[in-house]
Amino acid sequence: MAHCRHCDSDVDVEALVRHERDGLLRVHCPDCNGMLGAYRDPSTPRSR
Ligand SMILES: [Zn+2]
Repeated sequence: MAHCRHCDSDVDVEALVRHERDGLLRVHCPDCNGMLGAYRDPSTPRSR
């Protein structure tokens, strides 16, 4: 479970909305669309 501090709800990780941009994986809450975090996509090769 992930917790959204925007709408104060617990969200199933599988239900999170994911977007890839600029090599980062951005995760959004499906309820309020607030951003929960941005992570380095492990599938993206390192530039160095
Ligand atoms: Zn939310």
